[in-house]
Amino acid sequence: MTDHNLELDGLLQEAEDRLQERFRQIDLTARQNQKKVLQAFWDERVSSSDLSGSTGYGLDDLGRDKLERIYAEAFGAEAALVRPQIVSGTHALRLGLFGVLRPGDEIVFATGKPYDTLEGVIGLRPVSGSLAEWGVSHQIVPLRDDGEVDMPRVLALISPRTKAVFFQRSRGYAMRPALSIRTLRACFLEVRKVAENVVIMVDNCYGEFVESLEPSAVGADLVMGSLIKNPGAGIMTTGGYVVGTAEAVSHAAEQLTAPGVGGEYGPTHDFLRPLYQSLFLAPHVVGQALKGSLLAAYVLERLGLAVSPRWEEEKSDLILSIIFGDANKLLAFCRAVQSTAPIDSFVRPEADAMAGYDDPVVMAAGTFVQGASLELSADAPMRPPFIGYLQGGLTYEHVYLAVSRIAEELRSLPKH
Ligand SMILES: *Cc1c(COP(=O)(O)O)cnc(C)c1O
Repeated sequence: MTDHNLELDGLLQEAEDRLQERFRQIDLTARQNQKKVLQAFWDERVSSSDLSGSTGYGLDDLGRDKLERIYAEAFGAEAALVRPQIVSGTHALRLGLFGVLRPGDEIVFATGKPYDTLEGVIGLRPVSGSLAEWGVSHQIVPLRDDGEVDMPRVLALISPRTKAVFFQRSRGYAMRPALSIRTLRACFLEVRKVAENVVIMVDNCYGEFVESLEPSAVGADLVMGSLIKNPGAGIMTTGGYVVGTAEAVSHAAEQLTAPGVGGEYGPTHDFLRPLYQSLFLAPHVVGQALKGSLLAAYVLERLGLAVSPRWEEEKSDLILSIIFGDANKLLAFCRAVQSTAPIDSFVRPEADAMAGYDDPVVMAAGTFVQGASLELSADAPMRPPFIGYLQGGLTYEHVYLAVSRIAEELRSLPKH
């Protein structure tokens, strides 16, 4: 073994020692979430006949209906729509937005410009069928410089036309903090005080099971996410969910199928078993990813990089942002992650254009499920200051190996 490797092993050992208390908190949250999910399984008396699935219209799919009641209970909501026909998080969000908003309405985005793929949905870019084209206007309130929601501005923008206020929990592709459940709860209360009937919507992508409560349990009316992220536990190969009030969820369901048909239709094919199994596994797998993210934060910071959130800081999503300040370092990072992936480890990532995103994007995505980012993955839009986003990890052990490879690669780059 070289001195180099010994040093690296020492650093990883130091990281794990310092992270013991954080890891203990993560275990505790995973246990609380496991209990919550299992309690819902027990309350609904899940049996093996619930796992078989349906075809065609999917009418009277009792296993699907039961699964949706379980999601509702676990997320602290009245109702849920959990379907393999929802093709992505953006699709789930679009169902919620088009379900709730009508021509002439306005929506206030309280956490700045929403996630890149929603720009087309809202009509920030001219796209056919966007909310703007349907006569729905929007206001965007940027986060304050300290990362807090600018609640005075949000409240000031709420008018009789305001039908919905939208919060994005996770940082997405932006250098901003994720919002904790405590913060979200406080914001929701303030919104309710000035506008009792406004629909509070949350993009919950990457947030599920990171804390012991979901936004729907602390006052949100409609919460949406992707099953190839947290709640799919790495098992789901497609799907999305919408949870919230019975009324808002039914509006979203009308958008998924057809007005008047709603959630009654929707075959589950062979998806019910993995849908149940993934929800059962999700609290644990999210805990694995969180531990991996803290390890990466600690080690990369010790290698001189600015990361967010720092290892001591609270997390409310799975994403770690790393400022590389240099295109080559960013590429080396993505390539190191790719090289430790179970699939396509031999592939060398390059930056390329991608639908829904403005800048070329470089990705490390050696995943079992295409694009699944609860699996260890890294992505970065190629623009200064060259921020890389690292997320996921189905097992802590895999992330450990990847972090160690990233550290090796970064240290072997020529200095300048
Ligand atoms: C992943 C994600 C989405 C949805 O993206 P899809 O690729 O459509 O699933 C939306 N918002 C945030 C913050 C996300 O991380």
